[in-house]
Amino acid sequence: MSDDCLFCNIAAGDIPADKVYEDEQVVVFNDINPKARVHLLVIPRIHLASLEDLKPEHDELTAHMMRLLPKLAREQGLEKGFRTVINTGKGGGQVVFHLHIHLLGGPDLRIF
Ligand code: AMP
Repeated sequence: MSDDCLFCNIAAGDIPADKVYEDEQVVVFNDINPKARVHLLVIPRIHLASLEDLKPEHDELTAHMMRLLPKLAREQGLEKGFRTVINTGKGGGQVVFHLHIHLLGGPDLRIF
């Protein structure tokens, strides 16, 4: 855990968040500033700043996060589909430097 990391503190329960799922490896909560009717953030409990930090030792965690996404989407009522976004680095629009997957969906989702 990184003490000054917002999402580490959310994962630890030290900063409140609207959590919808958690297990030994990940925590999932509603984005505080949703860009669609459903906007979840899926984060690993361990501190990884971005995709750049992923190593082979994280393969099981990575697969776990990927396979969790459709399950979460179904639970949110997104039967027609959903969008995932991972911003990486300042140039990619990343603001919080703890790896997170945006899961977005709903009728207001614009196709691009
Ligand atoms: P990114 O630009 O990919 O780093 O996205 C960071 C996301 O974190 C943004 O969509 C923010 O709205 C969201 N966010 C920031 N602080 C919080 C918080 N305390 N609880 C939930 N979501 C947050």
